Amino acid sequence: MSATAIRTSVVRNADTMIESPTGLKPVLDVIPGHCYERSTTRGLLLFARDVVIFGLTVWGLLSTNDPLLLVPLWLLAGISVAGLFVIGHDAAHDALFDSKRLNALVARLSMLPSLHAVEVWVFGHNRVHHGHTLKQGLDFVWHPLTVEQYEQLSRVAKLRHKLEWGPFGAGAYYLREVWWNKMVRFTPPTRWAKQMRRDRALVTMYALGALTLLVGLDGAGGIWQWMKVVVAPFLIFCQTIGWVVHVHHIAPEIRWWPRREWNRFRGQVEGTTILWGPPGWDFFFHWIMVHLPHHVDMKVPGYRLPEAARAIAEAFPDQVDERPIRVRDYLAATKACKLHDLDRDLGHLPGMIVSISARASLLRVWP
Ligand SMILES: [Zn+2]
Repeated sequence: MSATAIRTSVVRNADTMIESPTGLKPVLDVIPGHCYERSTTRGLLLFARDVVIFGLTVWGLLSTNDPLLLVPLWLLAGISVAGLFVIGHDAAHDALFDSKRLNALVARLSMLPSLHAVEVWVFGHNRVHHGHTLKQGLDFVWHPLTVEQYEQLSRVAKLRHKLEWGPFGAGAYYLREVWWNKMVRFTPPTRWAKQMRRDRALVTMYALGALTLLVGLDGAGGIWQWMKVVVAPFLIFCQTIGWVVHVHHIAPEIRWWPRREWNRFRGQVEGTTILWGPPGWDFFFHWIMVHLPHHVDMKVPGYRLPEAARAIAEAFPDQVDERPIRVRDYLAATKACKLHDLDRDLGHLPGMIVSISARASLLRVWP
C-alpha cells in the first residue's frame, strides 16, 4: 500500500480502505430537520438555571472560610462557570436562540465568570478552530508539535510540553495557550477591533468591579473574598474546560492534516468525537461532548446534538468515533498523544500522533 493510497483512505479503517466524502453535504443531509428547532424558553431556562447555581456557590463562598466547605464549593463554582461557558458557546454560535440580539446578550453574560471577551473568543473559536479543525499550522487548540519542533525546544519548554499534554496539565495549557496567548495578548484585527475592545472592557469591568465592590464592603479582606469568588472558580474552570476540549479532538486514532490534504470531512467528522456522558453529566455540560454534530453544523442547539449525533453515526458508522466518556481513554490519549509526524510512516499512518517516548525511534529511522 503506497503512502499516497494510505492518505486517501479513512484513517480509522486503513485496512478496509473505505472511501469518505471530502465535504459535509452528505452529513448535513442526514441531520433531521427538527434538530434546528430552537426554544427560547428552554434556552432561557438553561441559562437562568446556571446563573442561579453559580450565584448560590458565590453566596456560599462569601459566607464561609471553612476549608471543608470551600473545596467542594470551589469545585461546584468552577463547574458551573464551565456550564455557563457552554451556554455562552451555543449563544455565540447563534445556536441557542432565533434572536441574534438575545444570543449576543446571553453570550456576553454567560462568559463573564470565565473571563472571556466574546468577540475575541468568537474569532479564535468560530472562525479559526471551526473553519480549520485539525489543519496543521492554523487550528490552535491542542495543536501537537512535530518531532523536530519538540527537539528544538529548551529543556524547560520540553518539560512544560510534557506537563501540559499530560493528564493534569489541561488547565495550565488552556490558561496559557488559549486564554492568555490567544485572547488576552491577541492583537485585534482592524475589522473587529471595536467589538473586541468593547467585550474586553466588559470582562475587565466584571473582574475589577467585583474587586472594588468586595474591597469596599470588607476592606483588605475583600481581596481574599475576590480570590474566592472570581479567581479560584476561573482557575477550576480552566482545568475543567481544558479536559473537555482535549477529548474533543485528541485521541491516538485522530490525525492532523497538512493544508493541501485537509478537507472538511477529515476535520469535522473523522477528527471530532462523540462522547456519551454518564446520567446527569449534561446537567452542567449541556451536550458539549456530543461534539461531532456541532462541528458538522454549528447552528444545531446543544440539546438537539444527541439526536443529530445518532443520525450521523447511523449513516457513517465507519468514520464516526462514538464511545462513552472513560477516564482510561483520556489517560491513554495523554500518554500517547504529545507529538505528531506529518510526513513519515513508522508502522502507522503518516501524521498519526506519537508519544514522546516514540520520538527517539522516529529520529533513528529517519535521521
Ligand atoms: Zn463551537
